[in-house]
Amino acid sequence: MKGYAMLGIGKVGWIEKNAPECGPLDAIVKPIAVSPCTSDVHTVWEGAIGERSDMILGHEAVGEITEVGKLVKDFKVGDKVIVPAITPDWGSIEAQAGYSMHSGGMLAGWKFSNFKDGVFGEYFHVNEADANLAILPDGIKPEDAVMLSDMVPTGFHGVELADVQFGDSVLVVGIGPVGLMAVAGAALRGASKLYAVGSRPNCARIAKEYGATDIINYREGDIVEQVLEKSHGTGVDKIIIAGGDNDTFIQAVKMLKPGGRIGNVNYLGEGDYIRIPRTEWGCGMGHKIIAGGLMPGGRLRMEKLVSLMQTGRLDTSKLLTHRFQGFDHIEEALLLMKNKPSDLIKPVVTI
Ligand code: NDP
Ligand code: ZN
Repeated sequence: MKGYAMLGIGKVGWIEKNAPECGPLDAIVKPIAVSPCTSDVHTVWEGAIGERSDMILGHEAVGEITEVGKLVKDFKVGDKVIVPAITPDWGSIEAQAGYSMHSGGMLAGWKFSNFKDGVFGEYFHVNEADANLAILPDGIKPEDAVMLSDMVPTGFHGVELADVQFGDSVLVVGIGPVGLMAVAGAALRGASKLYAVGSRPNCARIAKEYGATDIINYREGDIVEQVLEKSHGTGVDKIIIAGGDNDTFIQAVKMLKPGGRIGNVNYLGEGDYIRIPRTEWGCGMGHKIIAGGLMPGGRLRMEKLVSLMQTGRLDTSKLLTHRFQGFDHIEEALLLMKNKPSDLIKPVVTI
């Protein structure tokens, strides 16, 4: 079969490979719609997970099942399914402890385009089909549902990590697709003031549509000053970090009220340490909690998130700025993600 692969750090191209084999609990799926991710860009061009050769890329897909293992109970050939980017081993000790995304080791629930071939192939393998796949409901477009693979659950997980409650004032740093889903998730969870940090005008406009009350442009001045001024010096209850760099934590701690929580889902690609400002962290006693996590995967989460789309509470189509038709356009879509033109939020390829 054909696949679009990482050939080595900084190198990509089409390759031929044997089609994947199906284990007794597993499924083989052919993609219907896929989307490249900022993480694919980190993987290839920043060497984020180290050297990989001839590894098919991609971890965001909706597809059709072409084969199921003999122990699979709830899925059959021909079913259209939502495939989460994170596909844990649900029997692992880490999953039993409540951290399925770390099944088999830290971050090891992330398998596609990490430990095995991803979804940019003519076929791909899904472990534990009953626990990791969800049926694509009638009436939900595959291209909209692809956003459930990673963008929605990651942005929403930032909201969970920050523990947003009714009436909280919330700040979301970064309004790329992940941050926009954090804005949408914080609004669903009952945020009152909802500040969103970004600079691109179309992202700012869509952040408002998802519920942001104020846009903070980090290119037009220090975000700490801007947020403290708007909040009359008090700062905010909760912060979700979905963009920025290591020093964003310095800013976040300064903007957070005592008792507040920071939920980070941003990938930190360089440096050895994260710095925390001592006095604003209450000299170690400020009850300002910092949590960071990989999004959880699995079937239940996919089913719950798609139900938000079915009931009209979540519209992911606003994220889709560039649409392609045909498998061969995967390359173009990935390069678009790498070059990030200012009007890009997410590209999607329908196959
Ligand atoms: P984007 O690059 O599309 O968005 C990043 C956002 O951060 C943009 O709004 C950008 O602003 C903003 N930004 C950049 N620099 C700064 C800064 N110095 N201060 C404040 N804001 C800044 O990324 P994605 O939305 O695709 O992904 C966000 C992160 O989430 C990535 O690091 C990605 O790897 C990670 N991720 C994590 C996952 C997880 O499970 N934890 C899963 C998937 C992704 P603008 O462009 O408007 O100037
Ligand atoms: Zn992704």
